[in-house]
Amino acid sequence: MQIFEKAPAKINLSLDVLHKRNDGFHEVEMVMTTIDLADRIELTSLESGKITIESESRFVPNDQRNLAYRAAKLMKDQYKVNEGVNIFIEKNIPVAAGLAGGSSDAAAVLRGVNRLWNIHASYDELAELGAKIGSDVAFCVYGGTALATGRGEKITKLPSPPPCWVVLAKPSIGVSTQTIYQALSLEKAVHPNTEAMIKALHMGNFYGICAEVGNTLENVTMKLHEEVGQIKEQMRQAGADAVLMSGSGPTVFSLVSQDARAHRIYNSLKGFCEEVYMVRMLGYQEKTC
Ligand code: ATP
Repeated sequence: MQIFEKAPAKINLSLDVLHKRNDGFHEVEMVMTTIDLADRIELTSLESGKITIESESRFVPNDQRNLAYRAAKLMKDQYKVNEGVNIFIEKNIPVAAGLAGGSSDAAAVLRGVNRLWNIHASYDELAELGAKIGSDVAFCVYGGTALATGRGEKITKLPSPPPCWVVLAKPSIGVSTQTIYQALSLEKAVHPNTEAMIKALHMGNFYGICAEVGNTLENVTMKLHEEVGQIKEQMRQAGADAVLMSGSGPTVFSLVSQDARAHRIYNSLKGFCEEVYMVRMLGYQEKTC
């Protein structure tokens, strides 16, 4: 049997780092939303019981280090499944970009093998299991728009923003999330107003959402990679309603209400930046198991 799952990227509408915890993780408050830039995951059941992984991307490991492999292994062990699975990843989300590509692949495998192996676990159970793989995996199980707290694994659903364009540009550098957190000095950090962002989402106020975008990690990454600031400036000049770096970067996105301006931003960045995308936001994962 073979099934497919869509693994969408996320952007951070806001990202606040509150403090460092005793366990070494940072306590965060993030408002995240999924966008229509997605990897495609193909799952084929294997009677041998093995978990195998394939991808044409040279940027992701095709072995146990792949987060998608770890997701299948966790499900197999947790629910004592005899069957195996071959995981094929069509990689469309840029890697190490602040878009949670690896976490979304892992979440898609959790949802996918749940169906493939007839496990019937709830999304809450999948999210709890996913949090063992990485902090962003729990959010990626549900998709849509949500507030993520704790180290990112505690999810509260929120209304999605009104429909708009998201134009993304990734400079040709990879950024390690760990390096950015290590360079962060919380005394000098800028903190977004998460409460105001949540209020704007509840009101469905697009310009209110645009006014509240903010990311504590942005200044840190921008200091290390000047390309991030350059892209932000270019997007602003081309007429973006809001501009922000996603996650620990280096991808910068803009929110744009009008088609013509979104095309202008997209075209102004094409040629300047190797990877540029113009997509819509995505609603919640509608399927349950
Ligand atoms: P986040 O926004 O959650 O910090 P990211 O977008 O910055 O994530 P990823 O694209 O998820 O970063 O990749 C981070 C690292 O994880 C890469 O170095 C990559 O080699 C490794 N990795 C493991 N599995 C995958 C996968 N399925 N897809 C992408 N990267 C993966």
